[in-house]
Amino acid sequence: MGDQLKLLEDIEPLHGDGKEHLMVIAGPCSAESLEQILCTAHALKNAGIGIFRAGIWKPRTNPDSYSGPGKDGLEWLVKVKTETGMCVATEVATPEHVNEALDAGVDFLWIGARTTANPFAVQEIADTLAERHANNVGVLVKNPVNPDLALWIGALQRIYNAGIRRIAAVHRGFSTFGQHLYRNEPQWQIPIELKRRISNLPILCDPSHMGGKTELIAPLSQQALDMGFDGLMIECHCNPDKALSDRQQQITPEALRQVLHSLVMRNKLPLNDRLNELRQQIDLCDDNLLEILSRRMELCRQIGEFKKENNVTVVQTDRYNQILEHRMKQASELGMSSQFVQTIMQAVHQEAVKQQVVILNTNHEGSNPIQN
Ligand code: PEP
Ligand code: MN
Repeated sequence: MGDQLKLLEDIEPLHGDGKEHLMVIAGPCSAESLEQILCTAHALKNAGIGIFRAGIWKPRTNPDSYSGPGKDGLEWLVKVKTETGMCVATEVATPEHVNEALDAGVDFLWIGARTTANPFAVQEIADTLAERHANNVGVLVKNPVNPDLALWIGALQRIYNAGIRRIAAVHRGFSTFGQHLYRNEPQWQIPIELKRRISNLPILCDPSHMGGKTELIAPLSQQALDMGFDGLMIECHCNPDKALSDRQQQITPEALRQVLHSLVMRNKLPLNDRLNELRQQIDLCDDNLLEILSRRMELCRQIGEFKKENNVTVVQTDRYNQILEHRMKQASELGMSSQFVQTIMQAVHQEAVKQQVVILNTNHEGSNPIQN
C-alpha cells in the first residue's frame, strides 16, 4: 500500500513478559504512597508481571482531584526496581518530567492522551529526549483524546525523530460527550488503520481507561488480542476501593492474574489452506460488492441528471427514509445488525448526494464551481 509509513521502519519489536509473547504493563493509576506502590508491585511481580506502571504526575480533569506525588514519588519507583527487579513506567507531559524521570532511571515513559493531542507539548518532550540521547528508554504514545489518527501518528513521528526506537502505541479509546457503555469509545478501526500504515509498530490496549469499569477489562483485553494487539496496559491497585484516582476501573493483582489466565491467545499468521480458501471467497465477495456499488453510483448519477433537468432538490427525505427503513428491516432478516446496515446505507447515500450535487452545479462547458 502506497500510504504505509516507511519512516518508523527500524523501531524495535516489543519483548513480552506476560502470557506467551504479550507485553503486560500493570500498576496503579496514581502513585499514592511508598506502601501502596510496594504492596502492589510485589503482588504483580508474583503474578508474573515484568513492567510496573504508576502515575507520578497526573493530568486530572478536575483541579481539585489528586494529582500524584510529583517528583518525590520517583524514589518509590526506584525502590520497586531494586526490590523486585521489575521495569518501571510513568507518564510524562513536560521536559521537566522527562528529565526527572530519566534521572531516576525510569525504563518506560508514556505520553498521555491529553498530551498527545498537543503537538507543542509532544515536540518539547521529543526535544528533551534528543538532548539527553535517551536512546535506551521506551516511549509509549497513547492515542489523542479525539479520534484523530494523523495526530497520533504525528506524535509517534516526533518521538521517532528524537532518536527513540523503542516505541509503541497505546490504544485507550476516544472521549465523547455523555454517558456511554465505555468511558472512552474503542473505535477499533483507528488502531487497525494505524497498524496497516505502520505494520511493525507494536500496539498495546489500555482496557482500564477504555472501559472505565472493572468488568469490561477482560472482554476488552480479549477483543484487543483477537485483533492482534501486542500487549496490554492495565490499572491495578492493592486496595482499589481506597484508590485516590480511577477507583472504578482498578483491579487487584490477583484479579489481573485471573484476567490474564482467561485470555485466549490467537495466532497472527494465516495458518492453513482452509483460511486461504475462505479469504479467496472473501476477495470474490469484495469484488462483487465494489462492482455493485459502482453500478448503483452510475444509476445515482443518471438520477442526478434527471433532477438537474427538472430543477429538483438532490435530497428527497421521504425516499431516503423509505430506503433506510426497508434495508434495516431486511438486515435483521438476513442475520445482520440493523445498525451496521444503517451505517452502510448512510455512507452510500452521502456519496450519492455528493455526486448529484456536483452534477447539478456543472454548467454546459463542464466546469463546476464546487469542484474547482
Ligand atoms: C493513565 O494512564 O493514567 C492516564 C491518565 O491515561 P490517559 O492518558 O489514557 O487518560
Ligand atoms: Mn488512570
